[in-house]
Amino acid sequence: MTDSLISSAYSQALEVIASVEPRIAEATRQELADQRASLKLIASENYASPAVLMTMGTWFSDKYAEGTVGHRFYAGCQNVDTVESLAAEHARELFGAEYAYVQPHSGIDANLTAYWSILAHRVEGPWLTDAGVKNMNDLSEADWEKLRGALGNQRLLGMSLDAGGHLTHGFRPNISGKMFHQNQYGTDPETGLLDYDALLRKAREFKPLILVAGYSAYPRRVNFAKMREIADEVGATLMVDMAHFAGLVAGKVFTGEEDPVPYAHVVTSTSHKSLRGPRGGFILATEEYAPSVDRGCPMVLGGPLSHVMAAKAVAFAEARTPEFQGYAQKVADNAQSLAEGFLTRGAKLVTGGTDNHIVLLDVSSFGLTGRQAESALLDAGVVTNRNSVPSDPNGAWYTSGIRFGTPALTTRGFGREEFDTVAELVVDVLSNTEAGTNKAGAPSKATYVLGDGVADRITKQSAEMLDKHPLYPGLNLS
Ligand SMILES: *Cc1c(COP(=O)(O)O)cnc(C)c1O
Repeated sequence: MTDSLISSAYSQALEVIASVEPRIAEATRQELADQRASLKLIASENYASPAVLMTMGTWFSDKYAEGTVGHRFYAGCQNVDTVESLAAEHARELFGAEYAYVQPHSGIDANLTAYWSILAHRVEGPWLTDAGVKNMNDLSEADWEKLRGALGNQRLLGMSLDAGGHLTHGFRPNISGKMFHQNQYGTDPETGLLDYDALLRKAREFKPLILVAGYSAYPRRVNFAKMREIADEVGATLMVDMAHFAGLVAGKVFTGEEDPVPYAHVVTSTSHKSLRGPRGGFILATEEYAPSVDRGCPMVLGGPLSHVMAAKAVAFAEARTPEFQGYAQKVADNAQSLAEGFLTRGAKLVTGGTDNHIVLLDVSSFGLTGRQAESALLDAGVVTNRNSVPSDPNGAWYTSGIRFGTPALTTRGFGREEFDTVAELVVDVLSNTEAGTNKAGAPSKATYVLGDGVADRITKQSAEMLDKHPLYPGLNLS
């Protein structure tokens, strides 16, 4: 597609928006300018293609389509059927999955849908059969009571938040930590790596119905064959949440035992992180679990976002190209370069490195909390987020870590050299930041003092790199 076509399409769209609410058009322009000018290292963010973004802005947004393809609770869904079928077909072929469900609106929706699907399949099904109940409508009130008891007494084992897990993996304040009896596995205190033997021991003791694998902040690959062995040994369903690393699976960087799809019963994901699609979620499953996942609506979800399903189809189509595989490999190579850049400058990394798209820097050696480091970096135009490190002495709010990810800047064309410079700039900022004090003069975990002139110097250096690798090159708004 030509640059001028994209430029005029967006310029005209903004004019239409401005005719109704100019402040929204202005904020939209400003967001592009801000994204172009910032060194975005947030590991969960990316830049979707103009084709993906444009697909979201259509009248598919207006259509209700509760139900499944060919079986809708609304009339006139023939085009939504086309869209959903294509998105699911691309997802199945991209990931080599038996079944794909593309309706979840987000990663959290995908997980909630998966949990209820697994419960429906594992608990509701056999329980009903054992009780000789053929139809839910035949259940007496007493049976319902028993069913509720059975559903509500199940166990979930997931990776702990401070080891890199996600809040939907059984974290107490999340509904997943309330609907299940939950337990967590962590990482080895010495190496920071997943300890499969310790996990097996915990699984044997706890006997979960669901074993959840996957992470948001663990900088290493996971062996899903081992995970499946552990799940099988204790009779658990293996659910893998690949929200963060779906792009590395799609791009064939994670293959063999590092590819969750052949090993998991159910795989959940987002489409907007390393996979570089629209903001949304999806689920892959084996034939065995497909019928219960297919009931995501009405079990958990309402009307699907048809315009986003359309954009998922476009993004999955993009991810099936050799170009995307090249991109995914660069994401991993660049993370290596970023990690090496930190290590050669004496910084400390959780697990001592990375082999995915995440680098987790332990900022305690700079005498800073994650909160102080995050704010100082932001002052210098470096956008990251603070993150707990294993057994974090500063807790989940202040933290001791900064999480970096390579997917977004790799989309802009950054390579190994630029990522080495990124490490240099980050170490420069943090070496020139001191922990601050509160109003009473006592040490504070939030305030900090950034050396004079540092922010300007770093901003200038990163602007040079950003100018060389423009975001949406050729997109000029009139
Ligand atoms: C980001 C993430 C989610 C949640 O995705 P949302 O679309 O923000 O709801 C779920 N699980 C993991 C592992 C994630 O990293």
